[in-house]
Amino acid sequence: MARIEIRNVRKEFGAFTAVQSSSFVIEDGEFFMLLGPSGCGKTTTLRMIAGLELPTSGEIFIDGEEVGQRPASQRDIAFVFQMFALYPHLNVRKNIAYPLVSQGMKRAEVRAKVEEAARILGIADILDRPVGGLAGGDRQRVALGRAIVRDPKCFLMDEPLGALDAEFREHMAEELRALHDRMGATTIYVTHDQLEAMQMGDKIVVMNHGVVEQFGVPQEIYDWPATMFVANFIGSPPMNALPFDGALAQGGCAVDLGGARIPVPESLEAASGALALGARPEHVRLSDAAPYRGRVTATEYLGTTQIVTFDTAQGPVKVRAPSDQVVREGETTGLDFDARTLTVFNASTGRALR
Ligand code: ATP
Repeated sequence: MARIEIRNVRKEFGAFTAVQSSSFVIEDGEFFMLLGPSGCGKTTTLRMIAGLELPTSGEIFIDGEEVGQRPASQRDIAFVFQMFALYPHLNVRKNIAYPLVSQGMKRAEVRAKVEEAARILGIADILDRPVGGLAGGDRQRVALGRAIVRDPKCFLMDEPLGALDAEFREHMAEELRALHDRMGATTIYVTHDQLEAMQMGDKIVVMNHGVVEQFGVPQEIYDWPATMFVANFIGSPPMNALPFDGALAQGGCAVDLGGARIPVPESLEAASGALALGARPEHVRLSDAAPYRGRVTATEYLGTTQIVTFDTAQGPVKVRAPSDQVVREGETTGLDFDARTLTVFNASTGRALR
């Protein structure tokens, strides 16, 4: 197992900076997600942890030891490459055994380790089958077996489920998480899928344009996004951001939106300038009596809930309402915000005020 610390790590490719000075900590045994849109620097960060890229500056600690400039071979970390990268001419046993055989391990020991890995993954009965004829899930398990068998301190996975269809992907995600819970090894997992990150991760780093936007447990990132980027990237539909100008309403602890007074947390009393009120769709309630008004422009039925889009003085606002609540397009109603769940952002910097 391993505790990994990234301290002020930066990576430049020529004149281009792929990762700006980044810092975060991955605790021993965590299932840790690197999340962000395409090109944000996730893979580069993972490759620096693996030793496949060296940081331009900054330090990487594995269990307290600085390894930033050491090659991959000296880091005791297993990179689960694209899951389907198996040797097609070898059987399952030989595919899993490959890293041990190339280390020169004795045959009896290799056999024991391969059988242990196969048992953990539930593929002991197909060890002598050629990998060529295997179904997707089994191929994936064989690829994992090849990583597990080395008994590394840490697993690194780069979009391992990216090529799978939705249903199978969900199943493999559950298996991966269960496997991690059985083995307990630190796992770092790259994804651009916010739902996958929220479902699987103990902790998440959200990156954008090479910058760490936020680092924390899924619920904290969802409930208290540190930036407007995170508020928008996480959640479906994303957090509403209602722009408003100027100071908080007289008397504090409320903002004035188009004449309607909306209570906000007490800690925001000092806010001023160009601001935005962040509200998750499920934290806005439809209420005839509420002074902030919106006109229904669309409804989207989702089973137990529906997403209702309102046109308001601050632009469109989406509300998640129970699907049995009657809403008609064109009608105007009040929107009630729950002060305890609101985030106020500085609209110029995009950062949340706390
Ligand atoms: P994706 O999900 O698309 O892989 P990512 O978040 O993993 O995205 P990276 O692969 O880390 O992003 O790439 C970050 C940026 O660095 C991209 O703009 C990419 O083009 C650039 N980059 C990555 N590797 C190199 C390289 N070897 N030389 C030059 N630029 C690179």
